[in-house]
Amino acid sequence: MVNNRDTQYLLLTPGPLTTTRSVRESMMQEYSTWDVDYNNIVESIRDNLIRLAVRDGDNLKSFSAVLMPGSGTFAVESVVGSVIPSDGKLLVLNNGAYGARISTISRMLGIETVELSQLETERTNLNKVEQMLIEDPAISHVAMVHCETTTGMLNPAESVGEIVRRLGRIYILDAMSSFGGMPISMESTGAHYLISSANKCVQGVPGFGFVIADRDNLEAAKGLARSHSLDLYDQWREMEAKGGKWRFTSPTHVVNAFACALKELDAEGGVKARFSRYLINQKALVEGMRSIGFKTLIDDEFQSPIITSFHYPDLPGFNFQNFYDSLKRCSFVIYPGKVSNAECFRIGTIGDVYKEDVLELLNKIEEIIIRLKEV
Ligand SMILES: *Cc1c(COP(=O)(O)O)cnc(C)c1O
Repeated sequence: MVNNRDTQYLLLTPGPLTTTRSVRESMMQEYSTWDVDYNNIVESIRDNLIRLAVRDGDNLKSFSAVLMPGSGTFAVESVVGSVIPSDGKLLVLNNGAYGARISTISRMLGIETVELSQLETERTNLNKVEQMLIEDPAISHVAMVHCETTTGMLNPAESVGEIVRRLGRIYILDAMSSFGGMPISMESTGAHYLISSANKCVQGVPGFGFVIADRDNLEAAKGLARSHSLDLYDQWREMEAKGGKWRFTSPTHVVNAFACALKELDAEGGVKARFSRYLINQKALVEGMRSIGFKTLIDDEFQSPIITSFHYPDLPGFNFQNFYDSLKRCSFVIYPGKVSNAECFRIGTIGDVYKEDVLELLNKIEEIIIRLKEV
């Protein structure tokens, strides 16, 4: 809760997000990147990630986890650049900035790329996905974003996975902003590669991304990488062969904080409990915002509990920067909008954030709006 916080701001942003004091304190420990104690922490993180992502214990051995330094985008780029052969072709299901980013990465790497390009407010169209895959046998890989953080849109990761698997393609899922906070698995989505990062729903601090991969497919990616530092296979081999060692300097403090964050996720009751807290946060937010007069961008049916986009209010005196600054003075940091065809702002409901925090935010927003209506 805000009053007990030791931080200047409550980050209602989808990463970096508000972390616990204990997660931040675990960065006080120094580790050598070569040290066995540190490498054991890395191994336990990899093991934990596989257990979080794989539902059936019998399937654990079919998957592996790789950690990759950098922000989440670096992990996306390492997958796209490392697992698609030179004669491969990527279909990107794009309905937001993060989907568009996958296409940009793929094209810059010289990979043949096609898009199912949709509006940011439209959910991925399953019939079109199926049709594109049937009509173009050259498409070898399909990439989609699960929760499009651009809007808060939840894409049908499971149904797309069913189509991609049935039609014999490889499925890359950007579950950056949902993994750890929503109940998804390698089995339910059919993903061959599931990508997320330290500073999203596991509630760690920024510094690395991670990939849960189908082991056989990753094995087959040997020698395909288009970049040395982002070579997913090579990083994986090093971690496998040397018991948790990274190829190059690793973000040791961030890694230790992430190990702490994983323990706290477990202590909270796992993904199920975290998901229900996020749902409670998001429901309180939307109900409160609607009662103040705000309208949401995305249909409730497709809305994730991760982040919500709100239209600017229809008030002549409203100015987003002033609104943002007023909230920031009360320690709340919200997010600007990212959609191209509507004036919006976004509020995240993930991180070490509780319903009480949301209610306090709503009080401030209501005060601001009442003052605006008076002028
Ligand atoms: C956060 C996020 C990313 C990665 O963004 P970075 O700024 O590189 O960490 C990628 N995809 C989605 C859907 C995200 O929410």
